[in-house]
Amino acid sequence: MRRAVCPGSFDPVTNGHLDIVGRASRLFDEVIVGVLVNQSKSGLFTVEERIEMLREVTSSYGNVRVESFRGLLVDFCRAQRATVLIKGLRAVSDFDYELQMAQMNIGLAGVETLFMPTNPLYSFLSSSLVKDVAKWGGDVTPHVPDVVRDALKARLVPPPA
Ligand code: ADP
Repeated sequence: MRRAVCPGSFDPVTNGHLDIVGRASRLFDEVIVGVLVNQSKSGLFTVEERIEMLREVTSSYGNVRVESFRGLLVDFCRAQRATVLIKGLRAVSDFDYELQMAQMNIGLAGVETLFMPTNPLYSFLSSSLVKDVAKWGGDVTPHVPDVVRDALKARLVPPPA
């Protein structure tokens, strides 16, 4: 069984993330989306909310599981019996830091990192940009699944009094 982990914050999941997860799901028997629990940084959505949205939008792939993790990513990989990490690369500027982490992770636990070039449609897309646009009432429909767009609307626009 060939398993790969797609790690990240996913606060919230965007079409850029989904593109990477979907492509990975066609290359591996099983893909585990690992949602990082970061105690020092609270997101717009709780980890449970992020997981729920991710499960909903990845269920059609059939071989994708969504779990949370804390601590070392390589320990999560070991627990999931996955030997490969998949990282999306949006720009050359992503590469320096990703290379450092990849080299650390292979040294720590023999976990390989495969880099997947972003689909050019999504190379400008990040969760933080989506949150910024949504915060000011911009339409994020082309950039996130509908369930995420609706959750952003509900979270960011106060209901009328
Ligand atoms: P961000 O980097 O926006 O904070 P995450 O930490 O949730 O998002 O990212 C998780 C993974 O998804 C990383 O490997 C990241 O490079 C990748 N990723 C994020 N946005 C995109 C995108 N638009 N296209 C391709 N990969 C992406």
